[in-house]
Amino acid sequence: MSTHTYPACCEKDNGSALGTNATLSSPISVDGTPVIGEVYTVPARCGRAVKLSKGQVIRITNTPGSQVCDTWLFNSADLSEFSSMEHTRAFINKITPQPGDALVSNQRRPIGTLLSDTSPGVHDTLIAACDLYRYSNMGITEYHDSCADNMRLALNAIGLRAKEVPQPLNLWMNTPVNPDYTISWLPTVSQAGDYVEIRAELDCIVVMSACPQDIVPINGCNPQDVHFSVAE
Ligand SMILES: [Zn+2]
Repeated sequence: MSTHTYPACCEKDNGSALGTNATLSSPISVDGTPVIGEVYTVPARCGRAVKLSKGQVIRITNTPGSQVCDTWLFNSADLSEFSSMEHTRAFINKITPQPGDALVSNQRRPIGTLLSDTSPGVHDTLIAACDLYRYSNMGITEYHDSCADNMRLALNAIGLRAKEVPQPLNLWMNTPVNPDYTISWLPTVSQAGDYVEIRAELDCIVVMSACPQDIVPINGCNPQDVHFSVAE
């Protein structure tokens, strides 16, 4: 099992990255405010954070079709309120949100709404973001990019910090629960250019990570870029 420990300098919470990558130096703007209509890249293995005002819509595009994008929404006014998959599942009575469904926060109020989805609708809400411990457990002995660190670094890059890494909405991740309750780890079933649109129901920070998982085949073992844009 993992032998990683927190550096002595870190606060005793889950908010500090365990390593770094280009995410930290590549925000879309100083505070994450987007240019409306501009198409931004979440580079393979990296993360980005974008600030949305209530009512704005983010389109997240699976440009290669084969890429998983871990996604979080944080209340801009209070980062301890965030999209919560366990609360969302109870709110919508579904394992996976579909167009029209709310993404609710850990205060059980909508923080976003999934407006549209051109993909077959296969996403995951059960599996934790990959993190350094996950890769350590898989035998990786050096630093490995992870969705957890990408979330932390993407927030850090716009001057923010959350105290934990919530369960993400794992867009396009194909990890079905089988009839015998086992979980399979499969490639996506989405097509190149498939997208989802999410409307902000609160002023919020949306964080995305182009999952760097290259050991189990959820990204075809070949992490690639995804893209996003924001509309009024
Ligand atoms: Zn990941």
